[in-house]
Amino acid sequence: MLQSTPYPETASTRTKWIRALREPSSRPGAQSTPDTLVEQEMGPKGCLLETATIFLINRECPWTCVMCDLWKHTSLKPMSPGHAPAQLSSALRQLETASKQRLKQIKIYNSGSFFDTKAIHTADYMRIADSLSGYERVIVENHPKLSGKHISLFKELLDPQLEIAMGLEVADDPLLDKLNKRFSLEDYMTACEFLNAQRIAHRAFIMVQPPFTGQAEALSLCQRSVRFAFEQEASCVSLIPSRATTGAMHALKNQGNFVQPTIHTLESCFSHALQMNLGRVFVDLWDLEMFSECKVCFEPRRARLQQMNQFQKILPEIQCHMCHR
Ligand code: SF4
Ligand SMILES: [Zn+2]
Repeated sequence: MLQSTPYPETASTRTKWIRALREPSSRPGAQSTPDTLVEQEMGPKGCLLETATIFLINRECPWTCVMCDLWKHTSLKPMSPGHAPAQLSSALRQLETASKQRLKQIKIYNSGSFFDTKAIHTADYMRIADSLSGYERVIVENHPKLSGKHISLFKELLDPQLEIAMGLEVADDPLLDKLNKRFSLEDYMTACEFLNAQRIAHRAFIMVQPPFTGQAEALSLCQRSVRFAFEQEASCVSLIPSRATTGAMHALKNQGNFVQPTIHTLESCFSHALQMNLGRVFVDLWDLEMFSECKVCFEPRRARLQQMNQFQKILPEIQCHMCHR
């Protein structure tokens, strides 16, 4: 029923609509162990950096963006002080045992904003910072509207370089509003000015073919967003293909308000973004198979994108005898 009601016009009614369409999901408990992964990422100096990501279990993000499924990985119970550093220490121990290579860069993602003080308590900053000494670079996620004194406080305590990852999503105010992001491009620019003044690096997440747009405009919108991010002096950008992984996104899809990008759109957006030669560009390869239309050429396409991520070079296109793409 709700599935077919039109997408609401205002932020508060949209938030209710999005939340009401959430499918039942088993949420992790506060005591669950954080997931980790290790990958290589081209660093700002042009060297491949062994990079770990830790996905802390945290409280749910207070924003409710229409495409976001990160709430599925959050705890329904509030997090008490001491919780985040304890999770971090256990994840770091796992990583040190598992990884033979010396890790240089670490991403600490908490399914929300690191500088949401109800998620990561300021009293925990010192313990967190201490446990990260020895890394060259620490990357945390944050909403642009939470840029301020807590970032400066954490930076003062931290030995490694701090980088803030922000979901820019798309450089278009009406679309940001529809996505329920609750910030404007001006807010994003203000956040970047603050970070630039403090010499804190930032990276932007950009959605490829977000809801309320079509395949025909995906490339130009992506290029506009990439240019905007680098104009704010982003250290790099990550392209994220939009997916229907929540009830709200499925409803938008059924209403004709969302069409998932194909792997070809993603390839084209990535190549063009690299061609712009404005800085490092990465593409998110998580669950890439869901964007593929052909079993024969999926693996070569995935491998090409992975190599383009690592070497920041456009590689020859894949020609497929089966799908003729
Ligand atoms: S701000 Fe980020 S984490 Fe929070 S709901 Fe939006 S996309 Fe999800
Ligand atoms: Zn094919």
